[in-house]
Amino acid sequence: MGRTLIIGLDGVSWGVLHYLFENSAMPFLQSKISEECTRKAIMRSTIPPWTPLAWNSIASGVNPGKHGVFSFHRVRKLEDKFVTRLVTGYDMKYPRIHEMAAMLGLNAIAVNIPASYPPESSICHPGKCIVVNDWAAPNIRIYPQELERRYMHYFASSLEGLKLKGSSSSAIESIARRARLFSEGVLKLLTNYDWDVAFLIFSETDWVMHDNPAFVAGEKLMPTAKVFNIADEFIRKSSNLADNVVIVSDHGFSVCPYMINIPYFLKKEGIIDITFDEGIELKIMGIRVPPKLIKFVKRHKKLAALAHKALGAVRKDFMHDRYVPYSRAKAIMPDAGIIYCAPGHEEVVLNALKKIPEIKEVIRSNDVYWGPYLSEAPDYIIIPCRDYCVSVGKDKPRTNRNTAHHRDGIMIAWGKDVSKLAWKEILDPWDVGTYTIALAGMPLPKNADGFIPTKERKIHNYLIKWRVARKARKIKKTPQNTNHNK
Ligand SMILES: [Zn+2]
Repeated sequence: MGRTLIIGLDGVSWGVLHYLFENSAMPFLQSKISEECTRKAIMRSTIPPWTPLAWNSIASGVNPGKHGVFSFHRVRKLEDKFVTRLVTGYDMKYPRIHEMAAMLGLNAIAVNIPASYPPESSICHPGKCIVVNDWAAPNIRIYPQELERRYMHYFASSLEGLKLKGSSSSAIESIARRARLFSEGVLKLLTNYDWDVAFLIFSETDWVMHDNPAFVAGEKLMPTAKVFNIADEFIRKSSNLADNVVIVSDHGFSVCPYMINIPYFLKKEGIIDITFDEGIELKIMGIRVPPKLIKFVKRHKKLAALAHKALGAVRKDFMHDRYVPYSRAKAIMPDAGIIYCAPGHEEVVLNALKKIPEIKEVIRSNDVYWGPYLSEAPDYIIIPCRDYCVSVGKDKPRTNRNTAHHRDGIMIAWGKDVSKLAWKEILDPWDVGTYTIALAGMPLPKNADGFIPTKERKIHNYLIKWRVARKARKIKKTPQNTNHNK
């Protein structure tokens, strides 16, 4: 068994890759793809094709109904309101490949997998595992913590690239700078530590395509292609350190002639008075912030900037809850196209959605997911008509041409064990999961959803062990015990 390296290129489709290849912007990957023994497939993403659920299905080999991550946000319905916050590692209900490896006594490195904050939410021993959490979190941290001093700046710097998403060259340069630092940091970890399985994700490829329809449409290569060039260099250098390499994305990108703003229509129908973004109560570090104060601060630009800074200063534990009372909204859309309804209002919301001509279909979560965590899934998922994508604006019904995720991503694999395994030309995200687990020479999870690429069925019940380890860690963390340790 050798080293297996999984490199995630967020949002990359075959169309984008071919555009880059035609312009020699990813020469290494292009040369690998032309080799006969390299495997290629379409990775057909989750519905909807959003980053956190797709990556976690890839990392675990199961569908979102079994791993419990349905969007960037966790939504709970209380008696009188929705309560939401960003998903964390503790919302993940199924072990991921780096944790499975650690359970087998292997060494693993995991960098920037969605819903991995705080990094100690991963079940693996500090000597066996390195975890750098994802960017959609209050801050970036490294597990084990003693590595932060040496490596933190590679991962925590230049996050402003995310805020600058856009087509300006300064926004793209800032994203490229982050990609460069991230590459250097991951290469240092891959070189300086022992590993059997490593999984890392470049988010910058996704960030740089949002708001850049001219690039996605194949009309304007530069400066966007710079970011892909950095990823290509990383693939070239890091693949020398691995026996097997998997390049995978979580979804593709397409240009949408029109973006349709669902909250605008829901507002017109009287279903909502405020949108998810206007969630009127906040709880910061356990303290409730009065809605009036938030509104006041938001209205004053200087004050808002100051508040942002102050939160940054205390952000070690900064994880805020957002409350949206049912009296102000009978439905919320925490991420584009997914809808949670206030209890008892499912029919009213569905009827309002049916009136929107640009919606092709409204589906329920149990049409596309299965497993024990369906009750936490959105009530409805919106499938728009051709030429339309869904968005979260509220002031006008539609906005002009922009990019949006579509389902078809990529999967490429090469290395010494690749030809020993079965392959499919179109893979579900959980198929990628079981494939990479098998490629790393590990037994497959007992109730995985992905296909079985090996001749002999080696199965392991990771889930049971993982649940026990997680419980044990929780008990260890109770306040009395922490005091004892001190
Ligand atoms: Zn993504």
